[in-house]
Amino acid sequence: MEYFSKDISHLIAELSQLPGIGQKSAQRLAFYIVNMNKDDAYALSDSIRQAKDNVHYCKVCCTLTDQEICPICQSEERNHNQIMVVENSRDMAAYERTGKYNGVYHVLHGAISPLLGIGPDDIRLKELMERLKGPVEEVIIATNSSLEGETTATYITRLVKPLGINVTRIASGVPVGGDIENIDEVTLLRALDGRIKL
Ligand code: ZN
Repeated sequence: MEYFSKDISHLIAELSQLPGIGQKSAQRLAFYIVNMNKDDAYALSDSIRQAKDNVHYCKVCCTLTDQEICPICQSEERNHNQIMVVENSRDMAAYERTGKYNGVYHVLHGAISPLLGIGPDDIRLKELMERLKGPVEEVIIATNSSLEGETTATYITRLVKPLGINVTRIASGVPVGGDIENIDEVTLLRALDGRIKL
């Protein structure tokens, strides 16, 4: 039986596709949106459209940006010989919030997971290897300390080490199974300072 009008059901169905949004949350959000004033609701939908139209991967580090090359990769203040490899742009933002890292990043957009059928070709590894043809001194692997993050770290180490580039891994301080984006800045810094050579 349909409890809601077709348009509301449609909105609920769309919202429930978002990660972490179950049926109940989708309903709550849908009713909230329907009750918003028109300008605010349109601003929300316009921002989704604009982001989808304009945001793409940075040509260098693969983070999400609305420019061809992101501000970090463009910056002359950053050390371009030090590349921190992270799983996603949110992890990059977490390290940026510490304000203490002056190198650049490489965003993989995922991690290797044999269980989920995600292989090395499904993440932005080729782009990383391409960058390493330039003058890079250190690759800091800052993937999560989950099984997938560790698998990815091992894989990257095996690829990069033969190139004669220093490979380091952020130290624990980041709890096992912990997501980098949820970790406080002090812990992240400790993990970065205590990184170990691989
Ligand atoms: Zn970039």
